[in-house]
Amino acid sequence: MPEPVVSTLSTLLDVKPPTVSFEFFPPKTPESEEKLWLSIKALEPLNPAFVSVTYGAGGSTRERTHHTLQRILKETKLKPAAHLTCVAATKEEINTVVKSYWDIGVKHIVALRGDMPGGGKYVVHPGGYPYAVDLVSGIKKVADFEISVAAYPEVHPDALSPEKDLDNLKRKLDAGANRAITQYFFDTEIFLRFRDKAAKAGIKAPIVPGIIPVASYKQIVKFSAMCGTSIPAWLTHILEPLENKPELHKIASTMIAAEQCRVLMSQGEKQFHFYTLNHADHTAAVCHLLNKRG
Ligand code: FAD
Repeated sequence: MPEPVVSTLSTLLDVKPPTVSFEFFPPKTPESEEKLWLSIKALEPLNPAFVSVTYGAGGSTRERTHHTLQRILKETKLKPAAHLTCVAATKEEINTVVKSYWDIGVKHIVALRGDMPGGGKYVVHPGGYPYAVDLVSGIKKVADFEISVAAYPEVHPDALSPEKDLDNLKRKLDAGANRAITQYFFDTEIFLRFRDKAAKAGIKAPIVPGIIPVASYKQIVKFSAMCGTSIPAWLTHILEPLENKPELHKIASTMIAAEQCRVLMSQGEKQFHFYTLNHADHTAAVCHLLNKRG
């Protein structure tokens, strides 16, 4: 019998909950550290496949990323994944970070190129890993890590063409990455078309949709312009008038993310990576609406 789909709430009781993972960024202040830990503790019972911690360009967050990973290992049962970028660093510097992750017990790396610390056109560091594909190969030489890489349903802004971008993704997976996690997107059709093109290009590894419950409409517009995610008119129509009504904004953006996941589940998706922005509420509520309980 085919599995029931989750495109309407009436079928929810029969639906197998998705696998989830959560992304956090390393906090800067004691207050933000406390907030992050409240979020981690609130999301831990949802039993994510892994939780990932981002990494700043040129190692700018190295100590804080490391500290957060260490606390996760010490104080939770969660499986941490460490983000790592190759921008503005030598291979030796990066290999040292990779070894230190392995030594403390982090066995999963999200391998990325990163962006230039002050913005501007990407420049390969002399003596560094030029692109994420090179970082994946380098990491595999250090130890047999589980590796995730980034994918761009709306094409990475620096890509020479959509075809070359997809080829780059395939090369990252062929170099040993286990899965791709996508940049967040709002137009679900764009993801589905990208998934089809990836399959046609011979990509067999999972491509996990990256989902962002929007915390602030204004901020998401600014950030999306930089990372190449389009803002559909319906999203503006719903969220823009709520910018100064935080409670309503939270409810609406939770509904949007849950709706997006339910459509994706109806199209066969079984795993989601949530960009939590260190807030637990939206993500926990979306998971609840998807039948994912603690
Ligand atoms: P790559 O896969 O190396 O690709 C970058 C661009 O270069 C693409 O346009 C590709 O088509 C092109 N390209 C690849 N090879 C070549 C070549 N040989 N010649 C010319 N062009 C080439 N950033 C952070 O700083 N810290 C983080 O923790 C972080 N986490 C992220 C997590 C996810 C899931 C995602 C989707 C993004 C994350 N980013 C993070 C952002 C990421 O670093 C940027 O999007 C960056 O610009 C590209 O990284 P990449 O790994 O996709 O690069």
